[in-house]
Amino acid sequence: MKLDLITLFPEMCEAVLGESIIGRARKSEAIDVECHQLRDYAFDKHRRVDDTVYGGGMGMLMKCEPIALCYEAICEKRGSKPHFIYMSPQGKVLTQQRLRELSELENICVLAGHYEGVDQRIIDEFIDEEISIGDYVLTGGELPALVFIDALARMAPGVLSNNECFTEESHFNGLLEYPQYTKPQVWRGLEVPPILYSGDHAKVDRWRYEHSLINTAKKRPDMLEKKELSEEDLKIIEGNI
Ligand code: SAM
Repeated sequence: MKLDLITLFPEMCEAVLGESIIGRARKSEAIDVECHQLRDYAFDKHRRVDDTVYGGGMGMLMKCEPIALCYEAICEKRGSKPHFIYMSPQGKVLTQQRLRELSELENICVLAGHYEGVDQRIIDEFIDEEISIGDYVLTGGELPALVFIDALARMAPGVLSNNECFTEESHFNGLLEYPQYTKPQVWRGLEVPPILYSGDHAKVDRWRYEHSLINTAKKRPDMLEKKELSEEDLKIIEGNI
């Protein structure tokens, strides 16, 4: 998986992408993530990446040419045209399902906006997809881009120890994960459900599936509306909430 991030704040992004699981995955070359300073592609007299908005208004807008030049340089370096994503509050809200689809792609380029956003002509001519991380507005696209890259990169082969690390987690199969416990077996009088240390793997799997259903029904009933449920699933839910 090759990811390029176009940003005005590469140091901020590198600080996050150099740490922990993603940092280690970059070092081991399980993923290739590069941050590009947009200002390096501003070649006018004042090296400006933004300008005032036609029609008036307070804010500034990111100019077309530096973004186009930066993306074209990335295309040349990668030897192909990466799927180009603009992090935007106007995009479709990111889901695990969309991340699963995007994780199949070889090359992705992410644009982090700033100020009032970017000139519409870049969106019309260059951007393949706008992605939002939620229905609220942040000051810049760096945090959304980092959220996106983290969520995507952990699905790349070799980043986590095995695929179960994410296939069993919340949202992967349209359910929330089951409750989990660690040692001690009894903490302040509260006991771990005995089935989980019974050693019977089939029963543990069954318990986990049932508690995924119950957890989802309690916390996110909207998710169950999109899920195909058997008669037995419905009985478990009805009997537990
Ligand atoms: N004027 C824009 C609008 O109303 O749609 C908002 C611009 S916002 C202040 C600046 C930048 O932050 C955007 O270009 C985008 O890259 C990023 N951003 C803000 N909120 C976001 C969100 N919810 N999801 C993804 N990116 C977001």
